[in-house]
Amino acid sequence: METIHHLIDGVASPSASGVTKPVFNPATGEQTASLAMASLAEVDAAVASSQAAFQEWRHVSLARRIKLMHAFRNLLEVNQAEVARRLTAEHGKVTSDALGEVARGLENIEYACGIAEMLKGAYNESASSGVDVYSVRQPLGVVAGITPFNFPAMVPLWMIPNAIATGNTFILKPSERDPSAPLFIAELAQEAGFPPGVLNVVNGDKLAVDRLLEHPDVKAVSFVGSSPIAHYVYETGSKHGKRVQALGGAKNHMIVLPDADIDLAADSAVSAAYGSAGERCMAISVVVAVGDVADPLVDAIKVRMDKLVIGDGTDPSSEMGPLITEEARDRVNDYVGQGAAAGATVVVDGRDTQFNNNGFFTGVTLLDNVTTDMSVYQDEIFGPVLSVVRVDTYQQGVKLIEDNRWGNGAALFTRDGGAARRFQEEADAGMVGINVPIPVPVGYHSFGGWKDSLYGDTTMYGPEGVKFYTKAKVITSRWPDPSTSSVDLGFPTND
Ligand code: NAD
Repeated sequence: METIHHLIDGVASPSASGVTKPVFNPATGEQTASLAMASLAEVDAAVASSQAAFQEWRHVSLARRIKLMHAFRNLLEVNQAEVARRLTAEHGKVTSDALGEVARGLENIEYACGIAEMLKGAYNESASSGVDVYSVRQPLGVVAGITPFNFPAMVPLWMIPNAIATGNTFILKPSERDPSAPLFIAELAQEAGFPPGVLNVVNGDKLAVDRLLEHPDVKAVSFVGSSPIAHYVYETGSKHGKRVQALGGAKNHMIVLPDADIDLAADSAVSAAYGSAGERCMAISVVVAVGDVADPLVDAIKVRMDKLVIGDGTDPSSEMGPLITEEARDRVNDYVGQGAAAGATVVVDGRDTQFNNNGFFTGVTLLDNVTTDMSVYQDEIFGPVLSVVRVDTYQQGVKLIEDNRWGNGAALFTRDGGAARRFQEEADAGMVGINVPIPVPVGYHSFGGWKDSLYGDTTMYGPEGVKFYTKAKVITSRWPDPSTSSVDLGFPTND
């Protein structure tokens, strides 16, 4: 069986620790590879390689960095089918989702191809007589990224392009559950011509993460994952003097007003709740039905759920794949049971769907009449379970979003421009959709939520990403009047 290695200093680095973890194909339940888990010494070796590479890389011209970024982009585009294949094989998402993930990653590389524009700085001539003031942004040094299982290609690409385009070197610690795609992407960067050590990959778990968090040569950490770990990473990294941005979990609400287009709202709810088996931090997990829209909306969602094809992600007819692990599947099913026991109306019970294989599949669930005291409402389930909360007014819906501990995304479905305008102002979340259920910003804006969805004050990719990976320097410069120079520059003298 294949052992998945690290990439340190430009070479595939087999396990020195001797510790491995199994990697599964969630559609079959079979182990497909062993993943080498980094020891402390291996993490240290990656940091040393990145630190050495930084000394050169920070002085490489913008022109060269941009050229390499273009080459990387083109290689990834050419190899997108292979990346998608690896995503489906280890994550389980359907091929179209996997290709979509690569496309969103490419956007971030394309943004970084314009890095010269972002690093222009500012200049004030004659702030005082003979004094000019100007500001530049410089790289931090070695920066690390720790990423979740649900977007194994896209989330590393939220970080890597801006981090290295701005002159840093980067160490990726991908999720141990689906490590093949991010490793392959790092190999493509290597092939594109980025020097060894500019992008290292160490595979591992808490041991590797903790080492990165405490290592004095790691200057910044970007994290994406669940809220408890995001909080831990933020606290521990900050305690060790690092710049940290840590994106956490979510519980995204979609309010549907009585005037909304029911078909659009139902299509959106189904794709946003069950796409990628609900394993998206921007998935809709709560539909807030206002007034008399509730009954027709629940009916329209149910009709669409009955037609959803669930199966192996490599089958082109599949619209939803399995959960990432057996434990995740059991956890999701347990939540459905908790919702039913707490009094929610089980409109569709995903546990009833039968699968004739050993994959980590479950069906799609719709719970109606969910109330805020239920665990299905309070917890991030991270699976194909959609709750419907019924309210009487728009204000009650907005208050639900405000009272929720998370604030990643929030959406409103309406035909009323005034209501939409009010919602975009009032919604207590970092990313807001108007008739758009999953408002993931394009690569030239930035991505991040509020409250327990983000620890730190800088969001990811786009302009905020560039800011995170650079530190500001302001230069105040005085030159004597040229007329006083000892060299005759041909200027008229004062006397
Ligand atoms: P996770 O928190 O379990 O793992 C994320 C990373 O942290 C992995 O690389 C993992 O190896 C590492 N890790 C796990 N436990 C650790 C520990 N005790 N100490 C140090 N490191 C540890 O998250 P996951 O299950 O891989 O991903 C799903 C979660 O990520 C969901 O909560 C989802 O909402 C969230 N997510 C958020 C965003 C966002 O942008 N806000 C995007 C994607 C995923």
